[in-house]
Amino acid sequence: MSAQYEVLAVRYGTRQASAAEVFLNYHVYREPDRPLPMDYFFWVARNPARSVLIDTGFSPAGGAARGRTMLMDTVPALRAAGTAPDAVTHIVLTHAHYDHIGGLPAFAGTDAEILMTRDEYDFWTGPMGRRGQFAHTAEASELDHLRELRAAGRLTLAGRTRQVAPGIELIQVGGHTPGQAIVTVATASGPVVLASDAVHYYEELERDRPFSIVASLADMYAAFDQIRELANGGARVVAGHDPLVAERFGHPADPPGVITISR
Ligand SMILES: [Zn+2]
Repeated sequence: MSAQYEVLAVRYGTRQASAAEVFLNYHVYREPDRPLPMDYFFWVARNPARSVLIDTGFSPAGGAARGRTMLMDTVPALRAAGTAPDAVTHIVLTHAHYDHIGGLPAFAGTDAEILMTRDEYDFWTGPMGRRGQFAHTAEASELDHLRELRAAGRLTLAGRTRQVAPGIELIQVGGHTPGQAIVTVATASGPVVLASDAVHYYEELERDRPFSIVASLADMYAAFDQIRELANGGARVVAGHDPLVAERFGHPADPPGVITISR
């Protein structure tokens, strides 16, 4: 039997946003603006052989600088999900935005293998990542930390597809950022797609509405198509920032802040 995993979404932060803020050029839809809460998650895929952390959340400083509400810092949130930092064997970074890599320093002293796409790393450590419309979504000190990890041989750079571990694949889709990746995980109840910021809200997929922060609009639309194809093949899609994740997957027995995607 191939490897299968338990998958958890950990809701560590939140904020109040609005549709006009969240969807690219919202005025083209000719609808009134409406409040839209935004949740912040990272994800855990684990079985007796390994524990894979997908993204790490924002740092207290990175969140505070943007007025985000941190519900749990990365390590306590991970412990709430039942995993100790030392137990993490792999960390996959879907992209380098502050709310996905900010918790990474907590794992510097562990043996976890850290993985992200080469295109994402090259973009954010290169000159274009410093231009204003990109730079506000990242923290310079956190990008420096990526450079340090790379120099120390701790950070593996992946091509467009990569097996993270048996049953877990990283797939680069681009769009939201140049090297944005999604992660597919094999579970006992079929494949799960951790879409991260390729799909912040289900409305992006279901109404074909791109998100407001975009590096390539054509790639973002193409990523929607690719994720729909996975969904049509039976995969369950976990959106990256949507409070509906709790509604669609949540279980009464879940501990606070933890959503069981698949057992
Ligand atoms: Zn992002």
